[in-house]
Amino acid sequence: RPRVLSGIQPTADSFHLGNYLGAVRNWVAMQETHDAFYCVVDLHAITAGHDPVVLRQRTRVAAAQLLAVGLDPERCTLFVQSQVPEHAQLAWVLSCITGFGEASRMTQFKDKSAKQGADRSSVGLFTYPILQAADILLYQADAVPVGEDQRQHLELTRDLAQRFNTLFGATFTVPAPYIVRDTAKIVDLQDPSAKMSKSASSPAGLIELLDDPARSAKKIRSAVTDTGREVTFDQAAKPGVSNLLTIYAALTARSIDELVEAYEGKGYGDLKKDLAAVVTEFVTPIQERTRAYLDDPAQLDKLLAIGAEKARAVASTTLAAAYDRIGFLPAA
Ligand code: ATP
Ligand code: MG
Repeated sequence: RPRVLSGIQPTADSFHLGNYLGAVRNWVAMQETHDAFYCVVDLHAITAGHDPVVLRQRTRVAAAQLLAVGLDPERCTLFVQSQVPEHAQLAWVLSCITGFGEASRMTQFKDKSAKQGADRSSVGLFTYPILQAADILLYQADAVPVGEDQRQHLELTRDLAQRFNTLFGATFTVPAPYIVRDTAKIVDLQDPSAKMSKSASSPAGLIELLDDPARSAKKIRSAVTDTGREVTFDQAAKPGVSNLLTIYAALTARSIDELVEAYEGKGYGDLKKDLAAVVTEFVTPIQERTRAYLDDPAQLDKLLAIGAEKARAVASTTLAAAYDRIGFLPAA
């Protein structure tokens, strides 16, 4: 079976529909076809400042949501990044073969640091993509299911894998991004020029899995729509309406063409009202299951500890090979 690895940050109280439709939905599907490793990347979540109590809670909520949307610990390895120390260890090695200029070209860093003020950004935010490369390469992943925003980081990961292999001998599988075009970039409801983002979107711009469905309905009703009145799919001219259609189609398995036809002669208001109902129906059982997992944190932690142990078995083998190729003395 081909190997797959992906991760998600515990940087908010809930995932949003961009996370789900762009990435996590594919994680669930790939459990059936791949040897799958998925992690809650808490090391990444401390790159932009955090509160320890909140982080610990969000890490559990993230894991609970992943289980609630269908990850099955019998069919994949689900773990928390900080519980597998090899991630930080390999990241150091990779940072030593990454060019400063190369890292400086990462657009996510430029965007996020511009928001914080470049001088106030942490070095961790800068080296984030190198840690992400370590996450992936430790598992010899063939494919990495992510949203469009991660394409550049994946390209860096591929470059680093190839560079290491050339410098020190074949060690890492060179991974390919797995990006499903239709849902690769769900945009902010209030700012359709930006992707929906846990940390950057305003609350009104997000549809969150764990939010009160009545609040989500209200956000959908006040989503920025475009000039004109007809429901048509045109991402350049009508990014707001096209985003709503994308979400609607993805959650119902109806095609966009079918939806456009169904809303002929109706207005944006009808589309929004119906989408709100679709979202409510989708999130309600997910919320119930998430709560159930969170009701038993000891059990959840146990499950994650088992995942970390399975992950470590693979990660430690890869790290040992990398250390050996580099010329470190063998550990006693
Ligand atoms: P943050 O703002 O803290 O970076 P995020 O919303 O970007 O949070 P991540 O945890 O960084 O979420 O990313 C998890 C996964 O979700 C990644 O695979 C990412 O590509 C995907 N993703 C994030 N936002 C979107 C989006 N708007 N549309 C599609 N996929 C997305
Ligand atoms: Mg992100």
